[in-house]
Amino acid sequence: MTTRVPFDLDRYLDGIGTRPCFICGCVADDPSFFHHRVYEDSETIIFLSRYPTLEGYCLVCPREHREDFSKDLSKAEYLRLQEMVYLLSRALKKTFNAERIYALSLGSQQANSHLHFHVAPLPSGVPLERQQYHALMAENGILQIDEPEMARLAERIRAALAAELKDQQRSSSDA
Ligand SMILES: [Zn+2]
Repeated sequence: MTTRVPFDLDRYLDGIGTRPCFICGCVADDPSFFHHRVYEDSETIIFLSRYPTLEGYCLVCPREHREDFSKDLSKAEYLRLQEMVYLLSRALKKTFNAERIYALSLGSQQANSHLHFHVAPLPSGVPLERQQYHALMAENGILQIDEPEMARLAERIRAALAAELKDQQRSSSDA
């Protein structure tokens, strides 16, 4: 499961700047932008990365096409998105017994401009030199996970996230 296969970056980048937005495509159920969904509500969608470098690698996105979180989201919208990053991180931590959770906003104005947070669990036992950016970069190879296994991973994360959401609702109703 942890074996990486080479990632063809040139092929990936070819045409990526002119294709329609892959996140808006996913939200609209366009089959060419299919991703294994983990969660969605009226504001947020979470799905598995198509090019995972770590098992359980997710993207957390606003459903609407927003680009720069520092100017296209209100503070309240940003904090609600980050709340989902936090709850997802707790779910990933438990599901994969992760040593660290990496979370970062990437994307580019030249391609994949729709705001998305990468949230990925680092398993324990990865040597220091293979952690952090090395662990995240597709240029260092991606995991080859077949579709049925991707669906199972999405289901496991979905269940763990549902438990986190339930816990949160319980604690906020107790308060
Ligand atoms: Zn979009």
